[in-house]
Amino acid sequence: GGGARTVRLTKVYGDGAMAVRALDEVTVEFPGGRFTAIMGPSGAGKSTLMHCVAGLEDATSGKVYVGGQELGGLTDRRLTRLRRERIGFVFQAFNLLPTLTALDNIVLPMTLAGTRPDREWLDTVVRVLRLGERLGHRPSELSGGQQQRVALARALVTRPRIIFADEPTGNLDSRTGAEVLGLLRDAVDGLGQTVAMVTHDPVAAGHADAVVFLADGRIVDIMDAPTPDRVL
Ligand code: ADP
Ligand code: ADP
Repeated sequence: GGGARTVRLTKVYGDGAMAVRALDEVTVEFPGGRFTAIMGPSGAGKSTLMHCVAGLEDATSGKVYVGGQELGGLTDRRLTRLRRERIGFVFQAFNLLPTLTALDNIVLPMTLAGTRPDREWLDTVVRVLRLGERLGHRPSELSGGQQQRVALARALVTRPRIIFADEPTGNLDSRTGAEVLGLLRDAVDGLGQTVAMVTHDPVAAGHADAVVFLADGRIVDIMDAPTPDRVL
């Protein structure tokens, strides 16, 4: 059970004539220990799906299970704890704390939880993301790409069972992007973590085990063992 799944998940924003059905009865699985990509046109509901499965937004109807636990049945307090202990996020808004250094931002989830990072894994993450020279810098002293890498390091360092990544390679040059995808792949293959990643990039999707295609709030296709040319 390190995966996540939804059953007829529906999310409606607004009401009356202004209502937007961002997700329409989506039933999908992100199997434990697998790397799943989510693709589809802008407005298809990809971010909404990630936010609902990650417990950051309430569903209008339907169910979300993370590691076998149904999110709808949790108190806010237990939901917060589940997010902190089991889920890692890499979103486009980096949410780095401006007064903390890169290193303190990276280890913040562990500081909050009163635990310490595994030194070897922290070193690996920092090396692969080429953040070694920047650990003492504050976010305002880092480029956009570097801030993205700090946010990714923060998500990886706790080794959460499931990682949600929204366009994690969007701001990165192709070499760093390939390394980030390799790191996500290592997290899945080496550590048995589960990754769900929204991307527009067929090359990025080619690193996944499966691709879920969304359009107009519905799943329109699922492809196993994707390759960039088949995804296009
Ligand atoms: P994608 O990530 O595939 O681009 P989104 O999940 O962001 O799609 O959006 C799906 C639909 O829901 C779009 O029509 C979008 O305008 C709408 N939507 C997303 N977030 C909100 C919100 N907070 N309030 C109102 N409508 C929203
Ligand atoms: P990246 O390679 O991370 O995409 P950019 O192309 O945005 O970086 O920036 C190139 C270099 O300029 C980076 O290595 C970074 O050190 C530096 N840089 C960018 N933005 C800032 C900033 N706001 N403050 C200090 N240095 C910056």
